[in-house]
Order: sequence, then C-alpha cells, then structure tokens
Amino acid sequence: MKRFECKDLGLSCEFRAEAENEEEVVAKAEEHAAAAHSMPKGDDTKNRIRTAVKDAA
Ligand SMILES: [Zn+2]
Repeated sequence: MKRFECKDLGLSCEFRAEAENEEEVVAKAEEHAAAAHSMPKGDDTKNRIRTAVKDAA
C-alpha cells in the first residue's frame, strides 16, 4: 500500500489517500489537489505529490 497525506506537502489539510500502488495514489491526490488547493493538473503537481508518497502497512 502507498499513502499520501496533504500535510506532508506543508498544507494545513487533513486529506489523505491510500492505494495499492503509487500511480493510483498520485491520481487520487492530484484530483484532491486540483479541487481543494487549486493546483494545476499535470506533471509538476504529480511530481510534487510523489515526493510525499510513503509506504503504508
Ligand atoms: Zn489537501
């Protein structure tokens, strides 16, 4: 499992996403980032999200 937490990007936000693989968790987080934080969808945002993706038990 992979996990992303918005607060790991320095945002005061309780959003977290979990998925079986990095691609899925990045996709979920990208949707959230666009909707909640007005981040543009695309490689820049995805790369930023990837830096915060961690392994989850
Ligand atoms: Zn957020």
